Amino acid sequence: MTLESIFLPGMDEQRPLLIAGPCSAESEEQVMNTAKDLVRNDIKIFRAGIWKPRTKPGGFEGIGVPGLSWLQKVKKETGMYVATEVATRNHVIEAVEHGIDVLWIGARTSVNPFAVQEIADALAETGFSGPVLIKNPVNPDLELWIGAIERIYNAGIKKIGAIHRGFSSYDKKIYRNLPQWHIPIELKRRIPDLPIIVDPSHIGGKRELIAPLSQQAMDLNYDGLIIESHCSPDNALSDKDQQITPDVLSYIMNLLVIRDTKQTTENLTELRQQIDLLDDELLAILAKRMRVSQEIGQYKKEHNMPVLQTMRYDEILEKRIAQAKELGLGAAFMKSVLEAVHEESIRQQINVLNQ
Ligand code: PEP
Ligand code: MN
Repeated sequence: MTLESIFLPGMDEQRPLLIAGPCSAESEEQVMNTAKDLVRNDIKIFRAGIWKPRTKPGGFEGIGVPGLSWLQKVKKETGMYVATEVATRNHVIEAVEHGIDVLWIGARTSVNPFAVQEIADALAETGFSGPVLIKNPVNPDLELWIGAIERIYNAGIKKIGAIHRGFSSYDKKIYRNLPQWHIPIELKRRIPDLPIIVDPSHIGGKRELIAPLSQQAMDLNYDGLIIESHCSPDNALSDKDQQITPDVLSYIMNLLVIRDTKQTTENLTELRQQIDLLDDELLAILAKRMRVSQEIGQYKKEHNMPVLQTMRYDEILEKRIAQAKELGLGAAFMKSVLEAVHEESIRQQINVLNQ
């Protein structure tokens, strides 16, 4: 994939790239008040949902086409770029006709290849060149996310970014949508040139989590943040618990620690060499352990014993987890390492059995 920068003309290549604005455009007054406060706080891209995919009917489903002229007014009066979500061909046509600068595909849309293809075709039809931002699908399926990105790319859009907004789960605890950071990390490995913007509002689902999640996103070296901001969050018609005022947003952004990406790489060379050596040792030890395991497999075969001996496995698990805790390693981490090692051991012993 050959991607182009998603920074818009006249914008400095800032890190993080910031997009902010209300979950939904609700009234001309709310849109204009929020936009004026945001531009004062140096926000260059204004977001607002015009068509809202709500989980249940009866909620506020967006103001629709009339809201697009409020976004035009934001552009005209503040000089900000404007962004909105599109979910159908018609949304694309209307948004492009109204001069919307940035389009994004929501999490409930990127999950559906038919819908994404319809949007891709409409984008090609209008000649819109991007940026188009693609949110992760609601379910933790990296291939589906990449598939949506490819469909948009194949429509001729080169200015593409991804938005990480977390993944739905039945079991809601701290987060509204689980961050599962390893998934966007793997996305970055697969498409290194793809900028990834983190959406702490939809991951956290509550105001208090915006600051820590934004910091975490910066510590993990993501490119930008998209944050819901409303002039009067308590009165918001959608997602009110997670919206913050432009002033609170500015306060949080000022406290963000942005790590210096160049600095760290050079100074880390020596430590990274140590990690390489340790990994070599780790691999050699694992291979040795598997060889011993194969010998045990051979013994079990000769004595007609079953490969899996649950008692022994439970004993190992319990003992090692206790040892790990003493060494400052997490119990859950140790358990998953041991489970993976055990699975491979069993596979190797079954091979011996079948030889
Ligand atoms: C939104 O950005 O307001 C939105 C609907 O988000 P998501 O698609 O991530 O749920
Ligand atoms: Mn929202």
